[in-house]
Amino acid sequence: MAFDERKDERDFMVRSQIAARGVRDRRVLEAMRKVPRHLFVPQSYGAEAYDDYPLPIGFGQTISQPYIVAFMAEALLLKGEERVLEIGTGSGYQTAVLSTLAGNIRSVERIAALLERARATLESLKIDNVELRLGDGFFGWIEKAPFDAIILSAAPFDIPATILRQLADGGRLVAPVGPSGAQTLVRVTRRGEHFDTEALLDVAFVPMRPGVSDI
Ligand code: SAH
Repeated sequence: MAFDERKDERDFMVRSQIAARGVRDRRVLEAMRKVPRHLFVPQSYGAEAYDDYPLPIGFGQTISQPYIVAFMAEALLLKGEERVLEIGTGSGYQTAVLSTLAGNIRSVERIAALLERARATLESLKIDNVELRLGDGFFGWIEKAPFDAIILSAAPFDIPATILRQLADGGRLVAPVGPSGAQTLVRVTRRGEHFDTEALLDVAFVPMRPGVSDI
C-alpha cells in the first residue's frame, strides 16, 4: 500500500532530477521509485517531499536532496549482499533506500528522538534488514565491523581513522568531508592497507558532531 502512494511523483522525480543528472544504476533508480519519501519528512513538508531540495527534519538536521541520496547510493557500488554501515540515520530515508540495495544496513544516530522516529517509519514499512543504534558515529560500530560499504550523512573535517579501519578490504566509503561551505563528497576505496580517495562532487551537509546528544 505505502509503496503505491504517490508513485507518479516518484517516477517524475527520478526522471527529472536523478536520471536526468546522470545516475545510471538501474537498482538505485528502482529504489528511488520505490521508497515512499513522504513518510520520512515531517507532515508539514509532505507536499514538498518529492521536490528537488533538502528538507528540515527537526533538531537542526535535514533530509538530503533526492539526487544526493541517489548519487551517494550509486557511488557505493552495491550489488546486493553487502554489509553496510551508515553514520547519521536522520529520518531513516537513506537507510530505507540502502536496505533495498544491500544485504544489511547498520545505522548509528546521535539524536535519540530522530532515531526513534526513523525506527517507527522503517518498521511501518516492514523493512527488516536494518539495525539502528543510538551512539557516536565517530566510533563507527566496531562489534559489527568489517563493512563492505560505509556512508556518512554528516560531514567530518577529516575522515576518522577509526571509521576507515572498519572498512573491509575492497570496501568503499562515501562521505562529505570538510568545513561548512567547502565540503567535497569523496569515495575512499580500501586496498589492503592503502586507501584510495576520489573527489566526486561539491556538497553542503550538516556537520558531524561528537558524542550522543542530550536533547
Ligand atoms: N541520511 C539522513 C540525513 C540526516 S542529516 C536522512 O536521510 O534523513 C545527518 C544526521 O547525522 C543527523 O541526524 C545528525 O544528528 C547525524 N549525526 C551527526 N553527527 C553524528 C555522529 N557523530 N554520530 C551519529 N550521527 C550523527
